[in-house]
Amino acid sequence: MIRYDLICAHGHGFDAWFSSSDSFEEQVKKGLIACPVCGDARIEKQLMRPAIPARGNAREDKPQAADKPALSKGDAAMMRQMAREMHALVRERAEYVGDRFATEARKRHKAGRTDKPIWGEASPKEAGELTKEGIGIMPLPPLPDEKN
Ligand SMILES: [Zn+2]
Repeated sequence: MIRYDLICAHGHGFDAWFSSSDSFEEQVKKGLIACPVCGDARIEKQLMRPAIPARGNAREDKPQAADKPALSKGDAAMMRQMAREMHALVRERAEYVGDRFATEARKRHKAGRTDKPIWGEASPKEAGELTKEGIGIMPLPPLPDEKN
C-alpha cells in the first residue's frame, strides 16, 4: 500500500491509500477519486513530504556539546601539572629579568648570547615586537591557582 498526499483543483489537501502507483494513476484517470471537501475529481499528487521529519532539524538547533568536550578532571590536572613543571624548569635554568625582559632579550640577541636563557614579563606588544625581530621567545602558561 502507498499513501499519497493529494490535492484537488481547489487546493484542498487530503491523503488516500492505493495498492500501487499504477492504481492511483488509473483511479485518477477514471475520475474515481474525489476531493472529500468539494467533490472535485481533478486530483494531483502533492509534492512529497521531506523524508526527514522535523525531529532531525530540531537536533541541529541544539548546541553540539559533543564537538567541544569539556576537559575532564584528569586533563585539567595534567595541564596544571605541565604548567607547574614548565615554570619550575624556567626558574631553574633561566635568569629572571622581570619587566626588563624585552630589553634584555634584545641585548642578548644582538650579542649572540644564548648560553643563559632569561625569563620575565613582557607585554603582548613587546612579545609581538620581539617575535618580528626574529628573537625567539616562548610564552609561559599562567601558573594555575593551586586552589583549583
Ligand atoms: Zn477540493
